[in-house]
Amino acid sequence: MNYIKPIFCLFFVSFLFIGQKEVYLQEKDKPAEFKVQTEQFADLAVLRYRIPGFESLTLKQKEFLYYLTQAAMSGRDIFYDQNFIYNLVIRRTLEGIVTGYKGDRSAATYADFMVYAKRFWFSNGIHHHYAELKFVPSVSKEYFADLVKNTPKKNLPLKKGQSVEAFLTFITPVIFDPSIAPVKVNQAAGADVIATSANNFYEGLTQKEVEEYYGKRFDKNASEPISLGLNSKLMKKNGKIIEKTWKVGGMYSAAIKQIVYWLEKALPLSETAQQKKSLSKLIEFYKTGSLKTFDEYSIEWVKDTEALIDITNGFIETYGDPLNYKATYESVVSFKDLEATKRIAAISNNAQWFEDNSPIVKEHKKKEVKGISAKVITVVAEAGDCSPSTPIGINLPNATWIRKEYGSKSVNLGNIVHAYNEATSEGALKEFAGSQAEIDLIKKYGDLSDDLHTDMHEVIGHASGQINPGIGTPRETLKNYASTIEEARADLVALYYVIDKKLVDIGVSPSTDLGKAEYYKYMRNGLMTQLMRIKPGENVEEAHMRNRQMIARWAYEKGKAEKVVEFVKRDGKTYIAINDFAKLRTIFGEMLKEIQRVTSEGDFAAAQNLIETYGVKVDKDLHKEVLERFAKLNIAPYKGFINPELVPVLKNGKIVDVTVAYPDDFTTQMLEYGEKYSFLPNEN
Ligand SMILES: [Zn+2]
Repeated sequence: MNYIKPIFCLFFVSFLFIGQKEVYLQEKDKPAEFKVQTEQFADLAVLRYRIPGFESLTLKQKEFLYYLTQAAMSGRDIFYDQNFIYNLVIRRTLEGIVTGYKGDRSAATYADFMVYAKRFWFSNGIHHHYAELKFVPSVSKEYFADLVKNTPKKNLPLKKGQSVEAFLTFITPVIFDPSIAPVKVNQAAGADVIATSANNFYEGLTQKEVEEYYGKRFDKNASEPISLGLNSKLMKKNGKIIEKTWKVGGMYSAAIKQIVYWLEKALPLSETAQQKKSLSKLIEFYKTGSLKTFDEYSIEWVKDTEALIDITNGFIETYGDPLNYKATYESVVSFKDLEATKRIAAISNNAQWFEDNSPIVKEHKKKEVKGISAKVITVVAEAGDCSPSTPIGINLPNATWIRKEYGSKSVNLGNIVHAYNEATSEGALKEFAGSQAEIDLIKKYGDLSDDLHTDMHEVIGHASGQINPGIGTPRETLKNYASTIEEARADLVALYYVIDKKLVDIGVSPSTDLGKAEYYKYMRNGLMTQLMRIKPGENVEEAHMRNRQMIARWAYEKGKAEKVVEFVKRDGKTYIAINDFAKLRTIFGEMLKEIQRVTSEGDFAAAQNLIETYGVKVDKDLHKEVLERFAKLNIAPYKGFINPELVPVLKNGKIVDVTVAYPDDFTTQMLEYGEKYSFLPNEN
């Protein structure tokens, strides 16, 4: 990738409309009565996913997966705390009420309170998981006080000797006052993005102080630079800046010890010697907190391609830090989907062809694109920053030099994508598609074009291109615009090739018409429909959304004179028409060339200009129209998942089998997790 953090590209599912599915996964294991969507509240829907193929694994593999899943869940508290310093105490308050409240649970106000509790769990804290903004309960403070007072004291996270009144005085404004900690990750241009972000990565510091602190420590000439600051909190103590490292014996020790405990149980069951090596390094990293060890682990992990089972576990993505230093805890436990992997492998095998034929200038191309390993995985469990809201594609590791020297692993989360597709309604497609021809194209090719876009974004998108010698990584050069630019680069590679005959030639696409379906979806989403995710008056903040709007708006402007893409009004409604697909593809190619130049040269001014011009501002009238049209459809813009549950079957204290249960109640699962995996104190 070149680039930075976004690598793990949480390529979140955009709101794409999908009709019938005719993709790889659905033929197998499809009990007709399996309910994918269990409930909907606020702007969220809760879904379930299946684990097809689990039953045919060996006992050893199942047991291995069980331990890895326990390790994954054990770090859950960390992510809450990273998001905001009081999230754990708030969560324990909410859970205390839900389990212990003695008053009337049939009241409408109680239902309103439950909506807040569920939103909180869904977002792992008080800030919206995607919009980053604080949301507050719709119930009154008085009602909240009543809930707390009618909950047994033992259920509440009171400090020693603290009265319920004193506790309420502390907790009420933290939950209810919108001016306290209003934004989790503030990216606003001109703001002190550190001082104004509510995350718990920095305390008492300004952006300037943080930039100076790491600027001094960053070694520009190092060929193998560690990911400075990745696993620590930076704060001031007695006027001095100190770093609190997340490791056994350091910050978050109690949870990390549990992660290590389960990883050590899993270790002997590793499928290959390489996998064992990789897991051993991960354990060592958690014990020492050494970032050099983390890099060693990442290298061993990249090399671990033979095993069927895999795990992402650690402090991985830095989207939660406006300066991209600190990484959030996350874990994905999975095994390979061998059939579907063939498709992604066909793209990966042709990575060099894609690089050679790319419209970027020669100096920015990699002479040798190497080490891309791509696969489709079947997810078994997700935790931390990957749950309940999940990525659909993952590309790791994030360290640029490791990617260059050793390559990366790129995965498509097959069973998650499948569940999304099953849950998406046809209503939105009918409402927003500009013509019957568009609807037909998307019904025919929509699912597969989604898969191919994701595959190419991850496998050849992030992996392509190179940075000019002597120029720092985008994190240094493009700063707060690095993530958006990197996602744009990967998307543009996918857009440029999705309509290419090459995909037909290598057997992954039935027709170049598939690319037309993708162009319709992408432009419609970027120009219009993704606006349904933000509130009136707000700008676009999230990196992937900014990237998509930037690409769509910029392409629209570039082709405006020739009417390549048009806004069309019909019966008072706005639609997107694409009049010239070939020309649109050429425009995407030109944009890719420029975005690669910005990345290769580290052109901050150009990155800022592109994103601020095209990616941030919202057309207010269009936004209003989109919200009104969506409101009528009653579709939740964001979706997240209940995890399946691995249940060990014990005989004489030994695991003799592991079965899968599919819980169907989000609240129950959240309460169980809160009970079972609550290892950290209220404040860390
Ligand atoms: Zn990405």
